[in-house]
Amino acid sequence: MRLRRRQHDILACPRCDSRLVQPLAARRRRDGDWHLARGCPECEWRGATRCSAEAYAEFDAAQRAARAALTALLANVERARMQEAADPRAQALRRGDAGPGGA
Ligand SMILES: [Zn+2]
Repeated sequence: MRLRRRQHDILACPRCDSRLVQPLAARRRRDGDWHLARGCPECEWRGATRCSAEAYAEFDAAQRAARAALTALLANVERARMQEAADPRAQALRRGDAGPGGA
C-alpha cells in the first residue's frame, strides 16, 4: 500500500495533482534507486525525488505510453489533413466557392 501511494506521488504533481508531470532529469543511483527531477506544465512546480527502480519503471512506462498516444493522435490529424488536402471538394468548401455539384 505504501509503494502504491509513492507511485501515485511520482505520476502526479504534488502541488496540483496534475497527471501531466514530466521528467526533467533522471539519474540512477549506486544503490539502484533513481534520482528523478520532474516538472508540472500546469502549475509550473519543479522538484526532485528519490524513487525505487520499480516506481521509476512505472513512471517511465507512463511517459512512453503518453508519448505513443500523442504520436498516434498526431498521425491521425496529419492523415485527416492529407485526406482533406487531396479532396478538391473539401478545398472548395473551405474556400466557400462550392455550389451544388461544383468544383
Ligand atoms: Zn502541478
